[in-house]
Amino acid sequence: MTTTSSLTFLPVLERIAEEMERTPGRGRAADYIPALAACDPRRFGMAVAELDGTVYGVGEWREPFSAQSITKVFTLALDLAREGDELWEHVGREPSGNPFNSLVQLEYENGIPRNPFINAGALVVTDRLQTRTGDAAGELLAFLRSESGNASLDFDKEVAASETAHGDRNAALAHFMASYGNIDNDIPVLLDQYFRQCSIAASCADLALATGFLARHGIRADGSRLLTRSQAKQVNAVMLTCGTYDAAGDFAYRVGLPGKSGVGGGIIAVVPGRCTLCVWSPGLDERGNSVAGVAALDRFTTLTGLSVF
Ligand code: GLU
Repeated sequence: MTTTSSLTFLPVLERIAEEMERTPGRGRAADYIPALAACDPRRFGMAVAELDGTVYGVGEWREPFSAQSITKVFTLALDLAREGDELWEHVGREPSGNPFNSLVQLEYENGIPRNPFINAGALVVTDRLQTRTGDAAGELLAFLRSESGNASLDFDKEVAASETAHGDRNAALAHFMASYGNIDNDIPVLLDQYFRQCSIAASCADLALATGFLARHGIRADGSRLLTRSQAKQVNAVMLTCGTYDAAGDFAYRVGLPGKSGVGGGIIAVVPGRCTLCVWSPGLDERGNSVAGVAALDRFTTLTGLSVF
């Protein structure tokens, strides 16, 4: 989809891109797998998608990058649409205050992860989607292709292989939850689905468009309903409180929007009823959020006055 109607926020995006260009210190690219460590931390792109599917951006807004944990939003929505509130018996919705791959809370909370956006919670969601569809990652890819209008979106085999080769922590999380009966599928099947899910390469344009259903209160790009209005509110609320690792409080304070980051350096954000955003810059802070990405979203809500507050 391209730009036909109003490009309301383009001047704001252009100003933000200029400011980011002048900002020194962009953090470090994720180094837990070689495929991500090679990214230049100073790369930058940002896109806005309007509710009608108009999308525009600045910098490298059409460049694919590793979506990683951003995909956790879409698997959550796809599973919630299928099973409704039963999901919340298997995963909580409280901020964890711990790193994304932490094991510590699982033991004293009986294998129920704190929220769907830490790795343990995302593994539970992917497991449940896998049980319901037989191909969770394929379901996710089809959804992203359809919402973005980009049929060439795909898994990145190199990233998926790298995740598998360095997957001990995620395997430990899955086995530990299985010991409490909170995982249905065979662990190798689940991990394969989860690593392929994380590996999807998509651009700011693709991801801003794919997030549109959350700004349209549950309505997909083709006008059909994915989530009830109430479920869309729930997903937005969990993004606001849990979407940016153990820095969700700071993100809410600075940006004031539901958002979800990934260690590939992308962040999606939602202005309910108005538009969605995606920003990408691979340099991360110590909590795993893109330094320039958070700064750019902070500037966006400051310059436009838009936020959920
Ligand atoms: N594939 C990563 C992992 O599971 C996702 C990390 C992230 O983006 O938070 O370790």
